[in-house]
Amino acid sequence: MNTAVDTASLRKLDQSHHLHPFTDFHDYAEHGGRIFSKAEHIYIYDSEGHKMLDGMSGLWCCNLGYSQQSIIEAVYHQMQELPYYNNFFNCSNQPAVELAKALVDVTPANFNHVFFTNSGSEANDTNIKLAHRYFDLIGKPSKKLIISRKNAYHGSTVAAASLGGMSAMHKQARGLDYVHHINQPHWFEEGAEEDPNAFGIRVAQELIAKIDELGEDNVAAFIAEPVQGAGGVIIPPDSYWPEVQRICDERDILLIADEVICGFGRTGKWFGSETYGIKPDLMTFAKAVTNGYMPLGGVMVGDRVADVLLAGGGEFAHGLTYSGHPAACAAGLETLRILKDTNIIETAASDVAPHFQARLQEYVDHPIVGQVRGKGMFAAVELVSDKSSRERLAPESGGAVYCRNVANENGLMVRQTGDAMIMAPPLVCNREEIDILIDKLGAALDATASHFG
Ligand code: PLP
Repeated sequence: MNTAVDTASLRKLDQSHHLHPFTDFHDYAEHGGRIFSKAEHIYIYDSEGHKMLDGMSGLWCCNLGYSQQSIIEAVYHQMQELPYYNNFFNCSNQPAVELAKALVDVTPANFNHVFFTNSGSEANDTNIKLAHRYFDLIGKPSKKLIISRKNAYHGSTVAAASLGGMSAMHKQARGLDYVHHINQPHWFEEGAEEDPNAFGIRVAQELIAKIDELGEDNVAAFIAEPVQGAGGVIIPPDSYWPEVQRICDERDILLIADEVICGFGRTGKWFGSETYGIKPDLMTFAKAVTNGYMPLGGVMVGDRVADVLLAGGGEFAHGLTYSGHPAACAAGLETLRILKDTNIIETAASDVAPHFQARLQEYVDHPIVGQVRGKGMFAAVELVSDKSSRERLAPESGGAVYCRNVANENGLMVRQTGDAMIMAPPLVCNREEIDILIDKLGAALDATASHFG
């Protein structure tokens, strides 16, 4: 597969038949892209042999990198034993049972039940149904509306995209009419001269205003990522989450934490909810639960909701053919075992992440950097042409796209969102590998500065 001829023919076939997610089909058919063929530790290799340091952990999922042999073996053995059976109609399988228990053990104490899906999007769809069912069962059937945030990402099925607040996605798919959005806690973009904590409180209080506008008797839940990932690694001001939590405690609505990116160590603790002191009723997970090796997601259902569902009232009319797939659950079980036994989350949080964040701060004074923000192994560098006015480097996020392309060409996989460079390196990086990432990022920033300077 590593010859130029194979790559050329593969690329042609790919361009001819394969419609890629979040891709401009016309542009791809014309220009094609990279075909990845191999990965090791924190490095990915394309079919032409180019090696890249994966500063994004795949799509924020391979927190333990690419060489976790025991996860691969766990999946292989499970496939030999029981490659598939479903969990519908009172059936179960050993890895699903054991993973449910393992998840209960690592999540906050109020979580004692899990509903499995294949992805984060499906898990968020499930959240809506769970919230609706909960309020129906407690005799409050008018509570159906969900409040979310602009620029949130909760997935791309119709329901998950409705929950999300990405305007480009809303333009292409008519959203569910029972989802409403408030502003995001994006101080750099929307806080202007305001004190960050005052801004955090003000944006959190939009939740009260929205509940009052819609009527508390009609609102079922508020959903949010502890740190918005795809929206641009938006680190909320310290004041934000305590105020949101206070509002949710006061009002009769469920709090749903979407932990699809933040979960399993990304922000320095097992879950972003722990990092920010959030006490959710429902918690979405996916991605790093299997280290990205198998598709698996789900909802952790807190006791407040689970107790009502378990008390009776008939069947929960929801499920996926692969909910609790034995091979995916085997991958999850082994991933959690590694996370627990190696203390990798704690090591990353106490040693590698502080180094990562400190080194990134070196770029605060770079001429095209407006803000460096981050938490744990998660960061964004916002590009500007003028630091005080926060003016963009180029129209249509052209500066960050340019910078990302230079970084990619120089062997660093990073992502661009709006005018920001986004990074979420594997938790298994060591300090030296973080230094390589930081140096490659710096070279891309310098090249971007001279290009636009
Ligand atoms: N929620 C969040 C916070 C995400 O970042 C994502 C994906 O990036 C999803 C949900 C959707 O997950 P999936 O792509 O597995 O459907």
